Amino acid sequence: MSYDDNNIFAKILRGEIPCNKIYEDNFILSFYDINPQKKIHALVIPKGKYIDLDHFSMNASTEEIVGLLKGINKVAKKLEISADTGKGYRALANISDYGGQEVPHLHFHLFGGEKVGKMVE
Ligand code: 5GP
Repeated sequence: MSYDDNNIFAKILRGEIPCNKIYEDNFILSFYDINPQKKIHALVIPKGKYIDLDHFSMNASTEEIVGLLKGINKVAKKLEISADTGKGYRALANISDYGGQEVPHLHFHLFGGEKVGKMVE
C-alpha cells in the first residue's frame, strides 16, 4: 500500500482543511480530535508521509523518530497531562485493518483529562 496524498491528515498538514492546533514544530503537528472520546483527546502526527507506525519505524530517519516521541511529550506537557503532573494519559496508535485505523497517516491519540479506563473494550 502506498501513501494516499488525499487522506484527511495530509490535507490538514497542507493547510487545506482547518484544525484546532495544539502544537507544531519541524517534525510534528498536534491538534484536537474532531470527535473527542475523552475530556482531552489530542492527535499527534508526524509531518512526513507515513501510513502507520510500522511504515514509520521502517522508513523514518532517526531524527524523525526522536522528533515524534519527543513531540508527544511536548504536547502532553502543554496540555498539562504529562506523568510529571501526577495525572498521566494514554497514547495509542491504531495500525491498519485489525488495529482499527481509519485515517492512513500515522497518528497517536492522546487521551486524558480524566481516568481513561479499560485498555481494550
Ligand atoms: P483512527 O481510527 O484512524 O485511529 O483515528 C482517526 C481519528 O481521526 C478519529 O478519532 C477521528 O475522530 C479523527 N478525525 C477524522 N477526521 C478528522 C478531521 O477532519 N479533523 C480532526 N481534527 N480529526 C479527525
